[in-house]
Amino acid sequence: MDYYGSEVTKLIEQLSSLPGIGGKTAQRLAFHIVSMPEERVQQLADSIVGARKHICYCKVCCTMTDREVCPICSDPKRDRRTIMVVETSRDLGAYEKTGKYEGVYHVLQGAISPLLGIGPGDIRLKELMTRLEGDVDEVIIATNSSLEGETTAMYISRLIKPTGIKVSRIASGVPVGGDLEYIDEVTLLRALEGRTQL
Ligand code: ZN
Repeated sequence: MDYYGSEVTKLIEQLSSLPGIGGKTAQRLAFHIVSMPEERVQQLADSIVGARKHICYCKVCCTMTDREVCPICSDPKRDRRTIMVVETSRDLGAYEKTGKYEGVYHVLQGAISPLLGIGPGDIRLKELMTRLEGDVDEVIIATNSSLEGETTAMYISRLIKPTGIKVSRIASGVPVGGDLEYIDEVTLLRALEGRTQL
C-alpha cells in the first residue's frame, strides 16, 4: 500500500536503490528531503546532476575527476617514478587519507574477473603500460586481496617483469577479500611498507 503518496514513495525507492542505503535510511532521508526548504533541495539536486555531468577520467592515471588531469597528477611534488596500481578511485582515496604516500597512482577502474567475463582489455591496463614507457622506477600493485584482485596482480606483474621495472605487491596485512576502502590507515600503511618484490 502507498502510505505516503506516490511522489514520496518514488523518492524512497530511488534512494534505497543506492549502495549502503536500506529501506529505513531511505525513508528517513526522503522525509528529511521533502521537509527541507525548496532551494536547498534544488541545490542538492543540482550538485548530483552537476557531479555526474562533469565527471571524467584523468588522462594520466584514469581516476575519476572533473578535470583533464587530476590534482594528484598535476602536483609537482609527487614522485612520478613510483606508481601505485589500485582498482578504484575509492582505493586511491583510502591511500591518500594516510597522507604518507608520495608517489602517483594508476586506477584500473576494475579488476580481471573470468567469472564475470571481465578481461584485461576491460580495465585500464593499456594506459598503464603506456605510462611505463616513461621514467618509472617501481610499480606497487595494491589491488584488493580478493580472487579478482590477486588475478589482476599476477597478470600485471607478468606484463611488467620483461620491462625490468621493479614490481611489488602490498603486504598481506590487508585481509583476504578485504575491500581497501574499509581498512584503517595504519593497516594500509603497514601493507605498503611491508610490500614484497614480485
Ligand atoms: Zn591523475
